[in-house]
Amino acid sequence: MRKKIIAGNWKMYNDVNGTVNLISEIKKVMSDKNLNAGLIVCPPFTNLETASELLKDTSIKLGAQNMYFEESGAFTGEISPLMLKSVGCEFVILGHSERRTIFGEGDQVINKKIKTAIKHALKPIFCIGETLDEREKGVTFKVIETQLKNGLEGLGEGELANLIVAYEPVWAIGTGKVATPEQAQEVHKFIRELIAKMYSQNFASQLIIQYGGSVKPENAKELLGQADIDGALVGGACLKAESFIKIAEVC
Ligand code: PEP
Repeated sequence: MRKKIIAGNWKMYNDVNGTVNLISEIKKVMSDKNLNAGLIVCPPFTNLETASELLKDTSIKLGAQNMYFEESGAFTGEISPLMLKSVGCEFVILGHSERRTIFGEGDQVINKKIKTAIKHALKPIFCIGETLDEREKGVTFKVIETQLKNGLEGLGEGELANLIVAYEPVWAIGTGKVATPEQAQEVHKFIRELIAKMYSQNFASQLIIQYGGSVKPENAKELLGQADIDGALVGGACLKAESFIKIAEVC
């Protein structure tokens, strides 16, 4: 049985004070609940150390939103896996559609990042998803297959034990347009079957595949009730402790 994992992608929201407030609120709201789901929060880089301190006495894990694929060097403005480890990060979001579309990250760069994260024992939350245009052209499965195969190229099953895949249809991110549970389940099933062909049935059956794209307390139960949906990567709704924890409560 796969454990459901709810991860909050804070994006470029909250300074240090905002981080202290939101994490304190999350801890307060969850204190009288017995959550079955695992929780991850991914604040901006500048707040990771503060977040790490505040999370010490909790079961909530810490993730970053991005990372460069080198350990150190003349890469102005970039953050290395070693830096993330040094502030207590366990997870890192890689290949988010905002990185792909706004910052021009392609599959090859994402593949290098996944490899470097794994080398340094950071657990990747590897995002894939089609645009609206691609869905309307009927190439969703092709796009997913290409992103998955390119992103994981050169990596063996043994190295991917801590991989999380997040299926995030680009048209559903930050738009309020959520995929129907059937649309999401169809792609999650496709991903699991493809992973089984690329690796093994056993590996595929244990892989955590999160859904992301306008997940809210109102739609979480149906989405997370689907057979191949093992959690959520949440943007907007993770910025309020109440809604973040309400999503986790449906698991
Ligand atoms: C995201 O940032 O990964 C995301 C899914 O955002 P939202 O929940 O706001 O659509």
